Amino acid sequence: MRKPVSPPIPPGRTKASPSYGSTGLAPGYTATNSNTRISPATLAKPAATGNPAAQVSNLGLNSDRLRQAMVQRLRSQGVTDERVLSAMAAVPRHVFVDEALASRAYEDAALPIGHSQTISQPWVVARMISAVCEDRTPTRVLEVGAGCGYQAAVLAQFVREVHAIERIRGLFELARSNLRALRLATRVRLVHGDGMVGLPGVAPFDAIVVAAAGLAIPQALLMQLAPGGRLIAPEGTSSQRLVLVERTGTSTWKRTELEAVRFVPLRAGIQS
Ligand code: SAH
Repeated sequence: MRKPVSPPIPPGRTKASPSYGSTGLAPGYTATNSNTRISPATLAKPAATGNPAAQVSNLGLNSDRLRQAMVQRLRSQGVTDERVLSAMAAVPRHVFVDEALASRAYEDAALPIGHSQTISQPWVVARMISAVCEDRTPTRVLEVGAGCGYQAAVLAQFVREVHAIERIRGLFELARSNLRALRLATRVRLVHGDGMVGLPGVAPFDAIVVAAAGLAIPQALLMQLAPGGRLIAPEGTSSQRLVLVERTGTSTWKRTELEAVRFVPLRAGIQS
């Protein structure tokens, strides 16, 4: 694989106003809050406070406004793709988290979803989808690591065919019920399986989004990209970076390193 000659410029940035400062992160963001690895204390199932049902129904009334504020924040963080911004304005993120956390659903934070996993931070979801969709609208997309199904729901707002794999059965079931509740179950084909092997029977994919970090991007996924297709994945262990890969020919891929991030690990095999 070829490394880029010069560092990538995040969308909306120019060489004159480069990147996100020395950390490579959006202003105010650290690698520890960019996605999914958060402290055990935060991962503990939240204690119910007050009357969660009342909080959620209140949130239901206010969630349009909260989502609009989230979209404004994403714009200020450099997200410019209107398809991504309107998709994120449309998907009720609070439906994907525990009722006791619903009031925090529109913060730019990863939140626990059980099984020691988390829903990705909105900025990371927007960044990854924008990167694979830049200058194109992919028709068939694979997401590895569906978790609670949020990112798949965002993708399904403007991508015709979304396939999503989750290795933990409990989360696969959670994603299925969340997507059903939003009537997206027919738009997202959800699989309980090991995303490191991809979906060879469905490939090629115009885009692949990997929501968990491995030491290296699995070769099987690179092979399942259509020519010209793009994959984005976090790479690394304690120090991680988003990597964007474009398939430029039958056996050539162009690799570009983007921002520092922090994701839960990509693991082989499935968990029942
Ligand atoms: N996409 C989710 C983020 C989920 S966190 C969102 O929208 O918020 C990452 C998920 O990747 C976890 O649920 C974890 O179980 C899953 N995962 C890790 N390794 C995997 C693998 N090999 N195949 C499929 N899922 C995997």
